[in-house]
Amino acid sequence: MGTSDTHDAPAPMEGSGAYNRNSRVQAAGLAAAIPYFEEAARACTLAPAAEPMVIADYGASEGRNSLVPMASAIAVLRQRTAKDRAISVIHTDLPDSDFNALFQTLANDPDSYARGDAAVFPAAVGRSFYEQILPSQTVMLGWTSWAVQWLSRIPGPIPDHVQIAYSNDRTARELYAAQADADWRDFLMRRARELRAGGQLVVLTMALTDDGDFGYRQVLAAMYGAMTDLVADGKLSEAELARMAIPTVGRGRVQLLAPFDANRHFVGLKVEQLDIFLGEDRIWEQYEKDRDAAAFGARWAAFSRASVFPTLALAVDDPANAGAFLADAESRMAARLAKHPEPSVIPLARLRLSKEAC
Ligand code: SAH
Repeated sequence: MGTSDTHDAPAPMEGSGAYNRNSRVQAAGLAAAIPYFEEAARACTLAPAAEPMVIADYGASEGRNSLVPMASAIAVLRQRTAKDRAISVIHTDLPDSDFNALFQTLANDPDSYARGDAAVFPAAVGRSFYEQILPSQTVMLGWTSWAVQWLSRIPGPIPDHVQIAYSNDRTARELYAAQADADWRDFLMRRARELRAGGQLVVLTMALTDDGDFGYRQVLAAMYGAMTDLVADGKLSEAELARMAIPTVGRGRVQLLAPFDANRHFVGLKVEQLDIFLGEDRIWEQYEKDRDAAAFGARWAAFSRASVFPTLALAVDDPANAGAFLADAESRMAARLAKHPEPSVIPLARLRLSKEAC
């Protein structure tokens, strides 16, 4: 965890509502984990009547994509308990995340679960989920979507790409695999402490297909191509590109189950359900309807800008150039993708874990 002196921690998403506006692909993917979360809400042991029921949402970003999952779990809990029973919903993210956008979403979005139920109390925490961030044995239900693919640190440079899944550098691949394994164990250990006995945790994360495919092939080729275009045009130096790395990993069934024993137990957690599936490619579906190649390129470029470009921009020497870098990279990437739109493979994993009653 965060022990490197030479590499920055991953940056948060772009902020100012950019993630809320450009995360349709994520919204479509996480929908498949909502039935798991509803099952978790049915199966979890309820907190004693005198205490609030605590739901934690790890890696919430600007909150838009948390609204439906939280509402789904709350609806199940309301069937199990009195209408005025207090529910505390705690959204967490890194300290630099745009919490203003999160609070505005909770207050104003028409889909907000926080409107219209006076016994639901949202709150937020700005702290890495690779630490324990909530008191021990207080969380009844945990949710995390599209977040644990982010490593705790950049474990090293990727000489031939910005995404490790498409690198041929063996040393780099080994470093990322080791970091991914350590981080997954850390994440699970911290959550195991926070969960109450009988609590449940649902995880939706980027994955690998059973053939080991990370997916997004064309999108990531266009992204790296955009970076090499910027180098060719003198807008980015070789050294800056060499430092650019997105510390995200897909974990397949093998990597997800690695910490668990033959009975699927680890640190008091048990894997109740695990499924690897393909997310819907909403951007391709839109292209099939409108046949607008420029819009297709622009949508994937906006997705990338909102989710990963700020991390790449950390490698730009002069912070004053970061804004121009984001704009140039986005337009280059969009132009490359518009030339020949293709559907993307979107490998995802959904897991439901329970904390053993001690
Ligand atoms: N849950 C939302 C948002 C996912 S975006 C959805 O499903 O669409 C991923 C979020 O994970 C970002 O906001 C990022 O800042 C957060 N994140 C990445 N690493 C984190 C860490 N170590 N601790 C807490 N949040 C983290």
